[in-house]
Amino acid sequence: MAEKACKNCRLLVSEGDICPLCKESNLTKSWKGYVIVMNPEKSEIAQKLEIKVPGKYAIRITK
Ligand SMILES: [Zn+2]
Repeated sequence: MAEKACKNCRLLVSEGDICPLCKESNLTKSWKGYVIVMNPEKSEIAQKLEIKVPGKYAIRITK
């Protein structure tokens, strides 16, 4: 996969090396599975993963 996942918030970043949410370059290519969150307040998985902003997130960071 070309996208990188933010180690802080799990957001998948397809361009650049900086997470638009955290403004940090703490990204990894080692992740597995993803979830697209539209309504963080209504999504059980978003609450479990502590996602507060809609977007595409990695389910598991493997490193
Ligand atoms: Zn982030």
